[in-house]
Parts: sequence; structure tokens; C-alpha cells
Amino acid sequence: MDDRLFRTVMGKFATGVTVITTLTNDKVHGMTANAFMSVSLNPKLILISIGNHANMKKYIEESGKFTVNILSKEQQEESQYFAGQLNEKREIQFQWIAGVPILPRSIANIVCDVYESHLAGDHTLFIGEVKDIHTEDGDPLTFYRGKYDCITS
Ligand code: FAD
Ligand code: NAD
Repeated sequence: MDDRLFRTVMGKFATGVTVITTLTNDKVHGMTANAFMSVSLNPKLILISIGNHANMKKYIEESGKFTVNILSKEQQEESQYFAGQLNEKREIQFQWIAGVPILPRSIANIVCDVYESHLAGDHTLFIGEVKDIHTEDGDPLTFYRGKYDCITS
């Protein structure tokens, strides 16, 4: 099957957008991801899928922790930045909750310990056990057919 057809069809599934953050060796790393889902209420589990070539994969393996930051409609540029699509290096001011970095201005932050990980083709599925949650008012950024949009409440 053609890769383009696969991506085109997967792109018909409208999603929100997140930036995953983690801390390893005193360094914060962020990466844009839309492969995120809720998994279980008891225990509280979520899932992200990270490309095996992404720096984020080894950083999560090192730290054993990650945070899912759900982006607001004002954060399209941050999504592009943390996907490596802006040709620049920025100084990002993260916020800290109990020693865990979160991305300011996002509409929710889901702090997780790695519960399980599974190699799946060219990605690794990280199941996170939710340890803490913070939520703010705001409207979400969305991604559909390779383009950004938003939902306004
Ligand atoms: P890098 O390329 O190492 O980092 C990304 C950018 O963030 C770089 O510019 C880096 O300098 C900057 N950065 C990171 N941390 C900091 C910091 N502390 N301070 C300042 N700058 C920093 N890929 C997936 O594997 N799974 C997905 O679910 C997924 N979903 C995506 C959804 C969308 C809408 C988009 C646009 C991309 C998605 N990607 C996904 C692709 C992924 O975001 C990119 O391939 C990413 O660049 C690879 O991650 P990396 O860890 O190698 O990041
Ligand atoms: P696109 O048309 O490449 O993406 C549409 C959809 O296809 C995505 O929402 C995702 O569901 C799927 N997809 C895309 N690349 C994938 C991959 N390597 N592995 C598994 N599923 C994938 O949209 P775009 O605007 O061209 O994307 C921008 C960049 O971000 C591309 O390089 C793309 O590969 C990457 N991206 C990766 C993932 C992922 O790894 N899960 C998800 C979204 C975007």
C-alpha cells in the first residue's frame, strides 16, 4: 500500500494536538504529537505513539516519565516549533509542577509515569499511568487532513 494513501486516510481522523514534554539529565525536551488516546479509568492510563527515530523516544526511555500538554487554539506556532518545522531555536520557558516540566498556556497537562511500552513497527507505544492532571479554560487546536484549525466554544 502506498504511504501517501495511508497518511491521507489517517488524516481524515480529526484530532487535537499535544506537545509531549519530558526531563532527562536536567534537560527538558518537547515534541508535537497527535497520536494520543485515553486507555483505562482503573487504573488511569493513556497512550502515545512515538517514532523510533524521534529523540523523544530515548528521552522517555531514560526518564520513565512524560507529560501530555493539550494545545489551545493559540498554540499552532508552538505545534510547528516542537515538530521541528520552524527553522529556528527558541528559549522556551516551561512551568514546573512537582519537578515535572509542563508547557504554559496549554488547556490541559497530563503527568504520567511509563506503565508499559510496546514496539509497534516504526513507532513505540508508551502507555502512561496518570499521576497528576491540570486543566485550564480554553479552546483546542485541531489537526485534520494535514491542516490546523480549532474548535471555538
Ligand atoms: P526534535 O526534532 O529533536 O525537536 C523538535 C523541535 O523542538 C526542535 O526544533 C527542537 O529544537 C525543539 N525543542 C525541543 N525541546 C526544546 C527545549 N527544551 N527548548 C527549546 N526547543 C526545544 N511524531 C510522532 O512520533 N508521533 C506523533 O504522534 C506525531 N504527531 C504529530 C502531529 C503533528 C500535528 C505534527 C506536525 C507532527 C507530529 N509528529 C509526530 C512528528 C514529530 O513532531 C516530529 O517528527 C518531531 O520533530 C520529532 O521529534 P524529536 O523528538 O526528534 O524532536
Ligand atoms: P500527514 O498527511 O503526514 O499526516 C496525516 C496523518 O497521517 C497524521 O495525523 C497521522 O495520523 C498519520 N501519519 C503521518 N505520518 C505518520 C507516520 N510517520 N507514522 C504514522 N502515522 C503517520 O500530515 P503532515 O502535515 O504532512 O504531517 C507533518 C509531519 O508530521 C509529517 O512528517 C508526518 O509524518 C509527521 N506526523 C507524524 C505522526 C506520527 O508519527 N504518528 C503523526 C502526525 C504527523
